[in-house]
Amino acid sequence: MASRKIFSGAAPVATVAEYSTRWHSMASRVLAGESLDKTDALAVLESTDLELLDVLAAVWRVRHHFFGSTVQLFFLMNAKSGLCPEDCGYCSQSKVSEAEIPRYNLLSAPKLLAAAKLAVERQSKTFCIVISARGPSEREMDAVCRIVPEIKQQYDLNICACLGLLTPQQAQRLAAAGVDKVNHNLNTSARFYSEICSTHTHADRVATLEACRSAGLELCSGGIIGMGETHEDLVDMALELRRLNVESIPLNFLNAIDGTPLEATNKLNPRDCLRALAMMRLVNPAAEIRIAGGREIHLGSLQAMGLYAANSMFVGDYLTTQGQLPAADYRMIEELGFTITRGSESAEPPCLSGAQEPTHA
Ligand code: SF4
Repeated sequence: MASRKIFSGAAPVATVAEYSTRWHSMASRVLAGESLDKTDALAVLESTDLELLDVLAAVWRVRHHFFGSTVQLFFLMNAKSGLCPEDCGYCSQSKVSEAEIPRYNLLSAPKLLAAAKLAVERQSKTFCIVISARGPSEREMDAVCRIVPEIKQQYDLNICACLGLLTPQQAQRLAAAGVDKVNHNLNTSARFYSEICSTHTHADRVATLEACRSAGLELCSGGIIGMGETHEDLVDMALELRRLNVESIPLNFLNAIDGTPLEATNKLNPRDCLRALAMMRLVNPAAEIRIAGGREIHLGSLQAMGLYAANSMFVGDYLTTQGQLPAADYRMIEELGFTITRGSESAEPPCLSGAQEPTHA
């Protein structure tokens, strides 16, 4: 009786096969160059747990087509902490946050150089210089523009600058100094943005990204899930990132830090995080997609599965919270059979057969 009950509770085999066909045919459409629409993207987020492995298997074909089995590591340096005049509800560094965090002004050049050295030692290709600010002061711009050429002269690193809102002139100065890309996260949809911040708008953030694009900088922009947004908000953000042709997309999972306005918000489970990564990959198939802050908390034991959709991670600590030990990340990557890459030259060649229908679909 007991085993019969188990079988009667399981989905009929035909339904499971239909799931596989559904997600693999969506991946095939993406690999054939089709841009998914809002309905498709929402379907990924609303897929059931029973479909999760089929969703990931399909998404893996897209991820592998563009990035093989490689993983890019990014290293974050919080070059100026706290003291920010903005009121982003998720952020421990905002003016409204009572979180206990270190607060300091822009780090000295020797400290930034030492951090760049550590980034290389940790096998990161990209060194992210982050400051807490609405936008950089003149002094901060000068300091960043002075240190970037020094870092690049000493280390084989790409530089990503995350300095807040930028004017077109500031974006041009950063490009001239050798900055490769600018990070400025959209964080969520235009509709939901006023729920998480009142001191600047989603449109301000888009304007910064457009200024950086015009200056010839690559764009790094992503978001945070788990702040109370709807699936539609998340999809709208993914579509907006595609419209902006963003090259690098970090997806954060809200770490509801004590002392921040969102401290009591905890709406994520690991499968939802995987579905969000899968949707982001299918909507932005060729973008570098990064499993970012909060992965240890929200993906938990399913962290490794996230790399079947994403192809990059931060190594080490986040801005004001600790990350997993680098050794644990290296082990996870190795156990997956993946390799760390420090550039496209060492990436595995794209798997062109990924564009074909799987034989079982
Ligand atoms: S602008 Fe940046 S540092 Fe300032 S509160 Fe918002 S997220 Fe935090």
